[in-house]
Amino acid sequence: FVKDRGRSQYRFYQDEMNSIVADEVLMESHLRRAIEMDELRVYYQPQVDLKTGTISSFEALLRWSNRKFGFVSPAKFIPIAEESGLIHSIGDWVLNQVCKQLKEWQEKGYRPVRIAVNISPKQFRVETFAENMQEKIESYGIVPSSLEVEITENALTSVHETLTILNTLKEIGVMISVDDFGTGYSSLSYLKKYPIDIIKIDRSFIQDIGLDDKNKAIAKTIINLAYYLNMEVIAEGVETELQASILLAANCQKAQGFLYSKAIPVDELVDKYLLKHVIV
Ligand code: C2E
Ligand code: MG
Ligand code: MG
Ligand code: MG
Repeated sequence: FVKDRGRSQYRFYQDEMNSIVADEVLMESHLRRAIEMDELRVYYQPQVDLKTGTISSFEALLRWSNRKFGFVSPAKFIPIAEESGLIHSIGDWVLNQVCKQLKEWQEKGYRPVRIAVNISPKQFRVETFAENMQEKIESYGIVPSSLEVEITENALTSVHETLTILNTLKEIGVMISVDDFGTGYSSLSYLKKYPIDIIKIDRSFIQDIGLDDKNKAIAKTIINLAYYLNMEVIAEGVETELQASILLAANCQKAQGFLYSKAIPVDELVDKYLLKHVIV
């Protein structure tokens, strides 16, 4: 009896696993057509200067809405895009959208802003990544420093190519940031080796910064580290006034999070942040 139950539980588990896999296969086939079906959008989340309340940079965050799956979180579909290789065309699409946007705003004479784009490790490791960036910047005719590439620590492996790619990006004038800082496997030595402009403190350290002394200590240390290395620092996932005031007191430059705004469509960005002079 016990054995039987074990087997049926196992079968249940296996069925469930099979259906998860089947779901992902189906999702991949839908994702494959997402661009031509016009299902992807780039949303933008503002980054707020804590001292002045001004907003001069945004993070581009991809959104996918599909007729079968509805809204799918990037946390779910980005890994599928990475495993299937679709990340190359999708990543390229995101970069083009952002360049197009920056170009349009420049032509309209809007105040200069910077946009950060998440770059998957797979995308980053393509030999021609830096050249492609240069070609885009030239063909769209945008100011190179208005574009920022966000790379996670784990993508900054110590292989020789990483330094070459980052140096080329820096020569072009693109800004470079480390995303989810403090959660990767890397040693700190890459901070002196690579031309990094911006550190983004991972949300996990910010979440209970008001309650957890250790997280507060870590966040403050990262802020100081950035200061002494002459890098900009941005706290991710700021949701409460308490978190914001602790970060301000610790001299954190910028913050990003639901306290200020979630990621919004481009029209809303233009309305709220480019056409009006905004102070939060
Ligand atoms: P990320 O780059 O660390 O982006 C920050 C994530 O935190 C975003 O989730 C954002 O909506 C969310 N967030 C912002 N403020 C708050 C807050 O106050 N509280 C909470 N709980 N969350 C907050 P999202 O948009 O779901 O993206 C998840 C991840 O997917 C991103 O993490 C990034 O790694 C990846 N991703 C998103 N767009 C792209 C893209 O275009 N290309 C690539 N390669 N990855 C992307
Ligand atoms: Mg990011
Ligand atoms: Mg992040
Ligand atoms: Mg992340």
